[in-house]
Amino acid sequence: MSFDYNNIFKEIFLQIEQTQDRGKIADYIPELGGVDPNKFGVHLISIDGRHYSFGDSDELFSIQSIAKVLTLSLAYKLENQKLWKRVGVEPSGNPFNSLVQLEYDEGVPRNPFINAGALVISDMLISLLEYPKQEFIEFVRKLSNNNKIDYCSRIAQSEKEVGYRNAALVNLMKSFGNIDNEVDDVLDFYFNLCSIRMTNKDLAQTFMYLANNGIEPISGERILSLSKTKRINAIMQTCGFYDEAGEFSFKVGLPGKSGVGGGIVALLPNKYCIATWSPKLNKKGNSFKGMKFLELFTTKTELSIF
Ligand code: GLN
Repeated sequence: MSFDYNNIFKEIFLQIEQTQDRGKIADYIPELGGVDPNKFGVHLISIDGRHYSFGDSDELFSIQSIAKVLTLSLAYKLENQKLWKRVGVEPSGNPFNSLVQLEYDEGVPRNPFINAGALVISDMLISLLEYPKQEFIEFVRKLSNNNKIDYCSRIAQSEKEVGYRNAALVNLMKSFGNIDNEVDDVLDFYFNLCSIRMTNKDLAQTFMYLANNGIEPISGERILSLSKTKRINAIMQTCGFYDEAGEFSFKVGLPGKSGVGGGIVALLPNKYCIATWSPKLNKKGNSFKGMKFLELFTTKTELSIF
């Protein structure tokens, strides 16, 4: 069955406009505090390459933690099974920047999408790549089919200036022997990957390889094996929304990932990839309207992985 997604987007947007947006912008990173809170955009790309969009879908925003899926993909491609010795695959049930569990777990983060896990993956990439920042952004440009995708030095710098908690996480893990490189180098790579800016369209395109069995659909290049693709989708399903992962699974029913810039990307294997952006976040740090939109979207279309 094919859908008139453009009309569905409009209908859902009108519906969520009537509910009060109870979210709050992520101003703990000063540079994100200046974004217009009323922005809303959505873009969907179907497996046969059709594009559907609504609202501010062509505006650049900071993808923040969504980039953690891309660092994981590159590290998994290069490191294979060894990767799982240093980071787990269990939902954490704790906020994305929590320190407590890490002490009990002796410096091994629960999963690659909480900050601690993404910092370990950053450390791995610094060891594996000759020019880490350059090679990683080239990987992202290839996935997005857009050579203009870049880090935003203003956002990276702004987070660096207040990044005490991420510094605490790397130091704690280093004390347990789970960080090989210098703390400052790991933080610099991490703040940069979080600073990448994309439009909804770029974001949906970038994640198409995960909807397309590991193959980037425009070039036809295999990015990940079938088994690795399945596993990354499984971790997005169980851990993509931190201590709200169960809720997202329950309400939306798709593997996905959020970022504190207000973006969410989600996908239905062999069918589509969808990206939403609305900067106000709920208490768990996920876009308030984006979650609502996707819940109504999978309910209306009656499509989910379940
Ligand atoms: N850069 C952000 C941080 O470390 C990423 C968090 C997020 O998007 N959930 O706090």
